[in-house]
Amino acid sequence: WRDVRMVHAHFAHWPVRMPTSLTVPETTLYDNLEVTARRYPNKTAVMYYGTAMSYRKLLQEVNRMASYLIMQGVQKGERILLYMQNSPQFIIAYYAILRAGAVVVPVNPMNMTEELIHYIQDGNTRLGFVAQELYSRIEPLVSTTVLEHIILATYSDYCQEDTLEVPDIVKAPRVAVRISSVISWNEAAGCDIVSNFPDTVANDLAVLPYTSGTTGKPKGCMHPHSTIQANTVSTVLWGTLTSEARVLCTLPLFHVTGMVHSMHAPIYTGATMVVLTRWERDTVAAIIERYGCTHWTCISTMVVDFLANPNLSRYDISSLQVIDGGGAPLPEAVGKKLFDVTGLRFVEGYGLSETMAQTHFNPMERPKLQCLGVPAFDVDARIIDPDTLEEKGVGEEGEIIVNGPQVCKGYWQRPEENEQAFIELNGKVFFRTGDIARFDEEGYFFIVDRVKRMINASGFKIWPSEVESILYQHPSILQACVIGVPDERKGEEVKAFIVLREEQRGLTSEQEIIDWAKEQMAAYKYPRIVEFVESLPVSGTGKILWRKLQEAAWSKAEKY
Ligand code: AMP
Repeated sequence: WRDVRMVHAHFAHWPVRMPTSLTVPETTLYDNLEVTARRYPNKTAVMYYGTAMSYRKLLQEVNRMASYLIMQGVQKGERILLYMQNSPQFIIAYYAILRAGAVVVPVNPMNMTEELIHYIQDGNTRLGFVAQELYSRIEPLVSTTVLEHIILATYSDYCQEDTLEVPDIVKAPRVAVRISSVISWNEAAGCDIVSNFPDTVANDLAVLPYTSGTTGKPKGCMHPHSTIQANTVSTVLWGTLTSEARVLCTLPLFHVTGMVHSMHAPIYTGATMVVLTRWERDTVAAIIERYGCTHWTCISTMVVDFLANPNLSRYDISSLQVIDGGGAPLPEAVGKKLFDVTGLRFVEGYGLSETMAQTHFNPMERPKLQCLGVPAFDVDARIIDPDTLEEKGVGEEGEIIVNGPQVCKGYWQRPEENEQAFIELNGKVFFRTGDIARFDEEGYFFIVDRVKRMINASGFKIWPSEVESILYQHPSILQACVIGVPDERKGEEVKAFIVLREEQRGLTSEQEIIDWAKEQMAAYKYPRIVEFVESLPVSGTGKILWRKLQEAAWSKAEKY
């Protein structure tokens, strides 16, 4: 493997196309778990606030839960909702769905009732795995949507020790359930293992991670086992992950980066996943010390928080060997501070839900800061003019397009959006990322802007049009325009410019709008900043010129 990496590093100066060097296994993700459980039955697969679960036990629990699904009549290809935070149950449910031949629909646990309806209806999910802390949000949707049946997980069932700070969310007692179509996790997991699991192959659909892509409502990216296997293997070959690794799982597992780096890759190699349900910077440092975590995939906000911990020097974090991540830029100054404190260079990567995390990665030995890295194995990445589609050269800015084994097979039931998202160039199909970048003479890519109208706050992606459509439901709001403004910690923050109805001026305050918005949407989406204005800039055709407002906000801001 080392040879492969050296060959790869040698070609890293080639501008944008990597030679073929990755063989994607023609097996399923479940096969990875089964093989690992055979190789390392007694090794700790999951460490959860002091409670260890071996690979043998993990496999057994997956097979039991998969058996329950089969007994519920789950069909091959059926979509099943997964609405949970990071926990052993998340991992078990995910692999059980795959074992039953079904498709995982992972949903951000921050979503509120109104937002959940879209995922349930679009994915047509009859069954769902839900964490009890989120239960009250989904209860009104059982039987009023296509969702009929829920398996309700209580995290404390998998955490018997409390020698460390266990967050309240894990300690919380069982919630009261008033409807009969809900079964507790333990009851469902108590069933005998069946023998009639369907045959599943690499090309079968496995996961539908939702994203808004470049426009519109969230859409499911169709990922068969093969695209996920490609990035699972690519993660392992690119880095230093072995069965000896202890992987700190702080990124949310519902999102592609967490999914691949903190779950599929460790399961593939037989490493230990040290799972955290909630991000808490003090607990993180203590956990790194206690379990000797070696690998940590994270997002820039976590690094900023981690370094801001006044107690950091009290902990021994010398076990850390690799800190990597993507999803948002890590400011160069933060990367330098991280190096000063840990002696480790942040290894940044780049990718999207459509590409099951990375298409680009920095070479481990020669990472550049605030840089997407070079194309990963088998990725053909190019820069084109987004209007003329003309290919650009070294140093020229344009839209990134990618072709590779990790690119999804299109959006779930969205033929029109698929037409726009993929283009053909010299007989090859490329995915249009909507990101503007350039590459240097060594083939390293740097992001500079976006074509798509998206806000990236701590790696959470927000689509202004979705926020605006909710704001328009407020009776005092005549017009709204949502933009991203610079924020030192999160990278970007959501801001709304609002024109109030004539009769409401002077009666409604900015804070009232913020408080109202907070109730309506997921915590990462609502505007933290509201500014009332007399009017919004509009084009000759009456379109709100959001880019004008955005550019003004960024040019005013101090550089951080
Ligand atoms: P998602 O589908 O949630 O993974 O979001 C994908 C988007 O995240 C990309 O289109 C980029 O805009 C952004 N992104 C991913 N990695 C990076 C990175 N290293 N630096 C800056 N933006 C990134």
